[in-house]
Amino acid sequence: MIVRRKTRQVTIGDAKHGFVRIGGDAPVSVQTMTAGYTHDINATVAEIHKLAAAGADMVRVAVPEKKDTAALKEILPQVSVPIVADVHFHFQRALEAIDAGIHKIRLNPGNISDHAQVKDVIQACKAKKIPIRIGVNEGSIVERKDKQRRLKELGGVFSDNKHGHFLAIMVAKLEEYLEIFHEENFHDIVISAKSIDPLLVVDAYKVISERFDYPLHLGVTHAGPKETGTIRSVVPLGHLLCSGVGDTIRISYANDPIYEVQDGLEMLYVLGLRQRIGAELIACPTCGRIQVDLFKLVQDVRKQLASEIKLPIKVAVMGCVVNGPGECEGADIAIFAGDRRGIIYVQGERVANVPEEEILEALLKECREFQAKVQRGEAKLGEKKVDVIPPDPIGDLGSGWEKIQKEKGRSLPVVK
Ligand code: SF4
Repeated sequence: MIVRRKTRQVTIGDAKHGFVRIGGDAPVSVQTMTAGYTHDINATVAEIHKLAAAGADMVRVAVPEKKDTAALKEILPQVSVPIVADVHFHFQRALEAIDAGIHKIRLNPGNISDHAQVKDVIQACKAKKIPIRIGVNEGSIVERKDKQRRLKELGGVFSDNKHGHFLAIMVAKLEEYLEIFHEENFHDIVISAKSIDPLLVVDAYKVISERFDYPLHLGVTHAGPKETGTIRSVVPLGHLLCSGVGDTIRISYANDPIYEVQDGLEMLYVLGLRQRIGAELIACPTCGRIQVDLFKLVQDVRKQLASEIKLPIKVAVMGCVVNGPGECEGADIAIFAGDRRGIIYVQGERVANVPEEEILEALLKECREFQAKVQRGEAKLGEKKVDVIPPDPIGDLGSGWEKIQKEKGRSLPVVK
């Protein structure tokens, strides 16, 4: 079990949009950012709805221009999750967003550093109880112009670390910036320290978590396309979360942000940091024993489960009966494929033996019925595990059966 670092807690949202707590004993939240222009009101509202439906706890929008903050007044009444304004360069955008009713502001110390301007934003947030994320990004906080001087001044601070100079600059920038907030006695703060380098991300958050007790927003910035960005993001974020560091996460891909939400949630589910919503799908990777089109079946099952099943039913899709029974133990519902057929089990009971073209519908029918039984209180999730040796559907898996029989000490069931 992961023991989470104790942090202060901030609350984001209002009665209409719901309240999301970050830090303290709150579950780790998942956030993402819209990809379209915020001033395109209808498109932004539609995107926020889609992301919220996928499970985003809050959604951030870019507000580079006045027309973007103006759009917030029309967007906010139409959406149902807290919205965060991402502000860079122009502190007025923050003031306009606050005036429009935004729920949280993100400021970048690298491009809004004038103390008077920052204090104006702090005071406006304080008046409306709006938290601020201080988002230090490696790309924008490192002062390129006087890099050499900064390295000389700060390089020794973390000299035993591969990223010592960057860490020193990040932490120094953060401490300088936090002073402004402390002068205003403002503590509704979330901190992030992102980089494109996953190892720097791990080091930065570890150092920051030891120095400050503000909640942390984890992320790898500009992680790239989903195909490679998943590993680049999940490795450092998973490592930090396993160490108890991190209170809210944003995975960032050069792709539809819905994947950021889906992957962020899945990471939290597998780490046991969030209660799963919807079915959990286990599937075999396939091998030379496969005799159905399992890749297609798994994708079809995944999509249908996502749209139809709301309870955390564990569903296993196995390519054959050789390793399948052992690998899907613990599933509520399992299908073992054979020679163009599939045998379906529900909590240990064999319920169907169908040809390949009927597997998807038959499996979904069992999932729907099982969900309804659980909702009526007639069955319990995970109560009776799939711990069965399914009948051999093709009569040609001798070596596999021998193995199963030896392990389980059972005789081969009769094929009907
Ligand atoms: S369940 Fe069967 S088909 Fe799938 S990987 Fe294991 S042995 Fe291969």
